[in-house]
Amino acid sequence: MLEIIQSFGPITGSHIAEKLNLSRAALRSDLAILTMTGLVGAKPRVGYYFTAQNLKTLKNTEFDSILVGDVYSRPIVVNESSSVYDAIVTLFIEDVGTIFVVSDNNCLEGAISRKDLLKAAMGGKNSNELPVGIIMTRMPNIILTTPEESVLAAAQKLLHHQVDALPVVKIIKVGDQTTFEVVGRFTKTNITHLFVKLVEK
Ligand code: ADP
Repeated sequence: MLEIIQSFGPITGSHIAEKLNLSRAALRSDLAILTMTGLVGAKPRVGYYFTAQNLKTLKNTEFDSILVGDVYSRPIVVNESSSVYDAIVTLFIEDVGTIFVVSDNNCLEGAISRKDLLKAAMGGKNSNELPVGIIMTRMPNIILTTPEESVLAAAQKLLHHQVDALPVVKIIKVGDQTTFEVVGRFTKTNITHLFVKLVEK
């Protein structure tokens, strides 16, 4: 329908229906949604026309200029020697899906997801005695982001690597050693909040 409105607009509802071989009534709710989103404008006796106002805002301006640093959450971390049991309790108390594992000086060592913990719990070992270091995904296999990276680039990493969260890190270089201090967590929830905020605006 958008394509028809884009190519032939302004176009009346009846003409759109004709092109789709549908009745005018069948289109009513879809047309209402398109006008509500701002993608399509409607003028009485003129018809429907394409505006794409929201698309422009979402696509070009906002996402490129919004940085991970503007939206990330505080990190939830445990130590490599913490038990699987403690990690599960932390997951519930903090209401998160991914926990990052850090060294004593807060440098990134690994990540544990909900399913990592489920798997460990089903393994039959005593979760009080099983350290998370054994089950975590370990550096250098962790996909990271920084506060300076764009939300769009970080979101693409989440999709590409099929993970729910990225640790937000500050890169620290001492001589030829690089470590990653964990300063936050970037998740799909951050993106959902941002999306809703942008659309509501
Ligand atoms: P779940 O396993 O609960 O579906 P994820 O899809 O986030 O959650 O995790 C899938 C796997 O990827 C897990 O084994 C987890 O340890 C690992 N993982 C989670 N976050 C990251 C990350 N940022 N970089 C690399 N691996 C990750």
